[in-house]
Amino acid sequence: RLADIPEVPRDEVFALTADFKADDHPNKVSLGAGVYRDENSQPWVLPSVKAAREALNKNRDWNHEYLPIHGLDDFLDVARDLILGREDTSQSPVVSIQTISGTGANHLGAAFLAQRLKPRHVFISSPTWGNHHLIWEFAAPDVVQKTYPYYHAPTRSLDFEGMMSTLEAEAVEDDVVILHACAHNPTGIDPTREQWEALAELFKRKKLFAFFDSAYQGFATGDVDADAWAVRHFRHVLFPRDSTAEGPQGLCIAQSFSKNFGLYGERVGALHLVLAPGTPEPGPRTQLLRLVRGEISNPPTFGGRIVQTILSDPRLRAMWDRDLQTMSSRIKRMRSLLRQEIEKHPGVGDWSHLESEIGMFTFTGLSPAHVLRLRKVHHIYLMMSGRASISGLNEKNVTYVADAIFEVIKH
Ligand code: PMP
Repeated sequence: RLADIPEVPRDEVFALTADFKADDHPNKVSLGAGVYRDENSQPWVLPSVKAAREALNKNRDWNHEYLPIHGLDDFLDVARDLILGREDTSQSPVVSIQTISGTGANHLGAAFLAQRLKPRHVFISSPTWGNHHLIWEFAAPDVVQKTYPYYHAPTRSLDFEGMMSTLEAEAVEDDVVILHACAHNPTGIDPTREQWEALAELFKRKKLFAFFDSAYQGFATGDVDADAWAVRHFRHVLFPRDSTAEGPQGLCIAQSFSKNFGLYGERVGALHLVLAPGTPEPGPRTQLLRLVRGEISNPPTFGGRIVQTILSDPRLRAMWDRDLQTMSSRIKRMRSLLRQEIEKHPGVGDWSHLESEIGMFTFTGLSPAHVLRLRKVHHIYLMMSGRASISGLNEKNVTYVADAIFEVIKH
């Protein structure tokens, strides 16, 4: 009966944002949601996005017709090139579908793979972006979720041995493994290139299906190609040109434009399914279209048009590259300032991980008790896991935050 339905706790990150908004303390700081903020803690509309909006508004052909089920072709072309590089795709066909941002791409990929690849397991890093578990629970209820070790708390570094040995021992052919393409959420720690190479070899030998979640391309380091390195490397190793050797059946990429274009609320993204050479693409493509038709019918237009306008115009593209530099360099500067301000206190130990991690988040290592005290006493909001969004810091509040962290550690 509907009357008997148990209440679900609020989603942690959205609840945190609501509580932060309701707090009227003048020194409050939000280190919760993964959204970029400028040096005044305000949302930042990228200048390249503003310019693209103006260009679109001048276009007399603007209308509000439906897109095809798969989305806007011109957008999909530039989106695919951005993540995979501009190279001949004839050897490993790519099916690209526009989605409701990265979340929709994760969901569509999960639903498609559950129905058509039928993996026994999906492996998810521990820890991960919280929504991975929920998405796979809803979209792929028959696929058993397993976790692989990722974070080694004592050394605040990647548990590469644990990751490799778990996949080696427990993953079977066609199992799906979710990998964060760059700037792992929530730890900010990525494998090195050598480690990615070893992973790609493992995936090839064991025929595992790599599912890249790419939510921070360009935002992480400011360099879109560097941030796409792991994805491109996997493609080259798993599906080399003219190879007849058997490997995995494909890989896929859930691509989000929320962070790197600041288009959070426009919900713009894509799913790219890379198929092993020689795989006919009409089957996978039409099954994906069928899923989209039954779920959203066709994607929204506005965000895709903005991304397409920027990426296909050299002037706007150069502007966007500068915007990426602005965001990523501010984050890097805040990382080093926070470290400096914390380490000036005696006995706090080594906080160098703040600078070695990349992207929006850091895993502070603070306990739930620390997190609660930060919130209650200092009006600083972060997730119970100790994950902090660096973009909530600025020159004016970083010392306040560092001093508060020192206070809760000493308390
Ligand atoms: N994957 C990861 C790892 C993320 O951090 C995010 C954003 N928090 C997403 C996917 C998807 O976000 P969106 O749906 O806004 O693109």
